[in-house]
Amino acid sequence: MIARGGIDLGGTKIQAVVVNGNWKVLGDARRPTPTSGGPEDVAEQMAEAMREAAQAAGVEPGKLAGVGVGSPGNVNERTGAVSQARNLPGWEDEFKLGPWLHESLGAPVRVGNDVQVATEAEFRLGAGRPYQSLVGVFWGTGVGGGLILDGKPWLGRGGAGEIGHIVVKMGGAHCPCGRRGCLEAYAGRAAMEERARREHEDGRRTDLFKIMKKHGHDRLTSGIWERALKADDSLATELIDRAVAALGAGIASVINLLDVEAVIIGGGMGTRLGEPYAERIVEAMGKNLFNDDHPPAVEVAALGDLGGAIGAALQTKRQV
Ligand SMILES: [Zn+2]
Repeated sequence: MIARGGIDLGGTKIQAVVVNGNWKVLGDARRPTPTSGGPEDVAEQMAEAMREAAQAAGVEPGKLAGVGVGSPGNVNERTGAVSQARNLPGWEDEFKLGPWLHESLGAPVRVGNDVQVATEAEFRLGAGRPYQSLVGVFWGTGVGGGLILDGKPWLGRGGAGEIGHIVVKMGGAHCPCGRRGCLEAYAGRAAMEERARREHEDGRRTDLFKIMKKHGHDRLTSGIWERALKADDSLATELIDRAVAALGAGIASVINLLDVEAVIIGGGMGTRLGEPYAERIVEAMGKNLFNDDHPPAVEVAALGDLGGAIGAALQTKRQV
């Protein structure tokens, strides 16, 4: 039996899977992404998650046909090095993540861009299968985007798909990227959390942080936002409404330019909030779509929460 590993390095959690030749998940594991330390501490947790998933699948990590990694930041697919991984502790300079994991796990490792591998996974195995051209929108800590045009990934000069930094309001809110008015400044979970903390410190009533503590987290995860929304928390509702409006404007702008057949909504927030919120995003897009009589299909990512890790494993099929 051929078994492959995949690791999705997210802003709040690390997810690892072991899949068989049909991409069926045999074992999975997750760990929180370290909030302090440096790249080596993050890599250590990634290796641990992979070992745990392999154990659940009953496979020795060193016997895996390959381990694929989906990483944020600038990824050198040839060397497996990653630099400028925002949202991760102390990860500005280049760190040779691929070689480090290869040494630790004993299997060949391939590192790719997290959003691109998740988009390809949805295109090949998930909600994107009926389409030839699509945009993947990964709504999580940040807002990432991946493109498939005419059946092929479109990477531009290496930096394509940055949908999170499409301007939805000129001179608008501060974005974690240092610029202003980006979609991510309104819809990224990190930016929403910062805004919620500020308002809370200024005396605004909200249960967001109470729910966070109750569940033993130190950050507002997608699950906490969902719980606060269900409890009709007014600050959570207001910030999510703002995020949905921004997503609608940003995605509509992409459609106006590319006219792809489908939009796949994934990411921690996207998969957690699911269909009802995808419908709200469609409604918000309507206001800004130029060809409004011919909107694209909008689907929730079908591979769910593990899509990024499965997509990471998919890379091991490509030989260097
Ligand atoms: Zn930005």
